[in-house]
Amino acid sequence: MPNRTVTHETITHSADETIAYGRGLAAKLSPPLIVLLRGDLGAGKTTLVKGIAEGFSAARADDVTSPTFTLIHEYRGPQVTLFHIDLYRIDTERELETLGLDDLLAPGSILLIEWGEKFPRLLRDTTVEIVLEQTGKSGRSIQLRSR
Ligand code: ADP
Ligand code: MG
Repeated sequence: MPNRTVTHETITHSADETIAYGRGLAAKLSPPLIVLLRGDLGAGKTTLVKGIAEGFSAARADDVTSPTFTLIHEYRGPQVTLFHIDLYRIDTERELETLGLDDLLAPGSILLIEWGEKFPRLLRDTTVEIVLEQTGKSGRSIQLRSR
């Protein structure tokens, strides 16, 4: 992981707080961009995407669900199109190719990728990493890492 520093860190105490944090985060993310969401199952990656989608007026939190089986969900906002991607079930570079992520990364697109760290080629200079970690029952630390 070349020269990544923690640029921001916060702790939330509920899913709603994580959603609210995601809403605010939208203002700091500009397309085209890959965001890797890192953290164990249940860390809050999908919950954070609910907030980011609201921040871009691309979807309501309740309408954002995990793309575990569908692999890619698309949410169109007025300015930005979000692609929420879950690579948990993708094991090889070849399977990754079939998803065509490079084509999705258009000028107005942001890719929000869970389990993307499995594939080093997704970690580009401009990639933002968001690392979520459970602290206690409903505490979550959220770190932004970029170059
Ligand atoms: P992931 O996508 O990382 O597997 P999810 O966002 O699907 O995780 O699930 C997180 C779970 O943890 C949800 O059931 C959510 O309600 C719960 N939760 C409890 N506290 C928090 C918090 N502070 N932030 C986010 N989720 C939380
Ligand atoms: Mg998830």
